Amino acid sequence: MTESISQEELKIMVNEITMLHYRDIAEERAVSKWCGYPLCNNKLLKFNKQKYSISTSSNKVYDLTERKCFCSSFCFKASKFVEEQIPQSPLWLRSLRYAV
Ligand SMILES: [Zn+2]
Repeated sequence: MTESISQEELKIMVNEITMLHYRDIAEERAVSKWCGYPLCNNKLLKFNKQKYSISTSSNKVYDLTERKCFCSSFCFKASKFVEEQIPQSPLWLRSLRYAV
């Protein structure tokens, strides 16, 4: 797995993968101690073992499983944004559309 990719590569990539693939990529990066955001090449300094965070102000429990794959809240949000750009349509349907 390469460390980081360019913005152009990311744009191409989101058209060729599904949201689940993207999450896999982020997780795989995190396992190899890279920030889960593909455009970031920061190393994950400490792998947060804490699974949940409880906000005392709102009394809500947050699942940190996804967040801990990223070096910062910025990358976490940026990655979520990319995830939202991934088309919901199945891959075969997309290639069909491009073929026309
Ligand atoms: Zn990062």
